[in-house]
Amino acid sequence: MTTIRLLGSFTLACCSAGLTALLYNYFHQEETEVLFFYGTLPICNFHRNVSLTTANQNLMVNQNNECFECKLNMIIGWLDKTKKTLDICMYMLNHELLSNAVIDAHKRGVKVRIILNEDNIETTWKMGNIGISKRVNKSKYNKNLMHHKFVIIDNKKVILGSLNWTKVSVRANWENVFITNDCELVNPFRQEFQRLWKQFN
Ligand SMILES: [Zn+2]
Repeated sequence: MTTIRLLGSFTLACCSAGLTALLYNYFHQEETEVLFFYGTLPICNFHRNVSLTTANQNLMVNQNNECFECKLNMIIGWLDKTKKTLDICMYMLNHELLSNAVIDAHKRGVKVRIILNEDNIETTWKMGNIGISKRVNKSKYNKNLMHHKFVIIDNKKVILGSLNWTKVSVRANWENVFITNDCELVNPFRQEFQRLWKQFN
């Protein structure tokens, strides 16, 4: 009798775990995207034309895989979809359009936190007086660089890669950027952000 009960519980547990996995897979749409930057001039029609008309705005629907401006717009698009929290850990952050996307998120009520390295603070930090929280790795306490480039959106997605958020990085370097909502990848970055946020207090 006990064996039957145990078998029953085991079967129930297995079914429940299987059901949880099925439900997770059903509701959790995987979202990944990989972008490469390699310093080409803008080549899509939209970004080549100086005067922007309604006609060529339609071209934005088709992402151009060669045009760095299109790829930059994709990153800005990810930031624009942020609803609740935006945790940014970035060695250099002074690209105007990316900075503006962060400021826009803050203005629409997203809780923004930024971790930076002190050597770039002068050029990077132009948002301090509008109430965005920041933590800085200061060289008098720690000579090692806070060299990360990752951003966590709503605790559900992480943007990572080699790209510093600067004009030079976007226009002139070979760089990679990756976004994923895979929780097994997102969670370690959430933990690391929390750890650094406390450490640089
Ligand atoms: Zn383009």
